[in-house]
Amino acid sequence: MFTTSPPPETQVYDPAVLKTKLEAVQTEGKILEDVVEEVVRTCAIEGVVLSTAKSTRCRDGGTDRVDMKKLICTRGGGSRQLEHEARLDTEPGVIRRNRKGSARTGCQFEVSVRHAKSHPRPKITNMKLGHNHVVDRQAMAVKLRLAGKLTEEQRGQVEKMTSKGMKPKAVHEAIQALHEDSDIEINRRAVQNVAASVHGAEKPRDAADAYEEVMAVTADGGVCEIKMDDSGRLTHIWWQTREQVALWNRYRMPLGVLAVIDSEYRTRIVGQSITADTTTNTFVWMLKSALRSRGGKQPDIFIQDAEVAMTAAVREVFPDALARRCLWRLYQHIMKALAKDLGGQMKARPVPTEKAAPAAPAAGRR
Ligand SMILES: [Zn+2]
Repeated sequence: MFTTSPPPETQVYDPAVLKTKLEAVQTEGKILEDVVEEVVRTCAIEGVVLSTAKSTRCRDGGTDRVDMKKLICTRGGGSRQLEHEARLDTEPGVIRRNRKGSARTGCQFEVSVRHAKSHPRPKITNMKLGHNHVVDRQAMAVKLRLAGKLTEEQRGQVEKMTSKGMKPKAVHEAIQALHEDSDIEINRRAVQNVAASVHGAEKPRDAADAYEEVMAVTADGGVCEIKMDDSGRLTHIWWQTREQVALWNRYRMPLGVLAVIDSEYRTRIVGQSITADTTTNTFVWMLKSALRSRGGKQPDIFIQDAEVAMTAAVREVFPDALARRCLWRLYQHIMKALAKDLGGQMKARPVPTEKAAPAAPAAGRR
């Protein structure tokens, strides 16, 4: 087990070290998923973050007799966007595009876990363990991967305690005490997930899974930032896809948001716009499109701020809807008007915030 940090001079990625470790992974009596989990963990300790490239299942009655999972470095794998752009580049007269944003380096690292039905145990195969980029063991993604996953030993302990009736909180404390020398903080969520699986729950998706998906959609030049708490639990994710970054940089235009209040009083965004102007014509055009996608059914209520162009557009497109002003805006206008008349006589009182303002009566739809 990984308990103490190796001295700094050995903190360099060495394929041979990883190979030895992977060859030592026990596969006897294990299912494919467990071996994959151990491979992912073993690689993460060496600073390698993996993602699934291919996964095949032996279907009942199917012709394939092998369960297989191919794992690749997150820097590897084909990028459809970049392939597409490479094609564009070869066309005459096309200006070369900026590709610096992509995290993919075409890394060839891969490892597969196969389980042939005719064999008693899964096998770790096809190890191509070299990278064409620097491997950083201190990277956020690596820490997160390690924090989110328990070792096999820890998993066994959690399972045992849970099956004896211990509650997850107590199990977490016990596991922490048992492994207090460990370099890697034991994640409360990881303990809860293992405990839940003992009770027959499907493997819950943890933060590391979410992060993996976000990394995948942002690998081709998107933005992904994360924050973790002291125990290595993922607490914040902010991401923009490559397309979103392009939009964000390109349009200095007004943003419009169409939202509804659902049956549980939650605000749900149902449409958005970026437009060059905010004239009545523009609003009419937008609202007509919104009306079409609603099958031509008028909303009962439409709430907006006191914008002349929008008011005119709503009257034209939603003539049957009750037009209402946003109460928060109304408060602001009242305070402004009062301040004008009363001047210094008005006691300075903060304008109520959006939250503090009472909900508009019968707020149905915006
Ligand atoms: Zn790599």
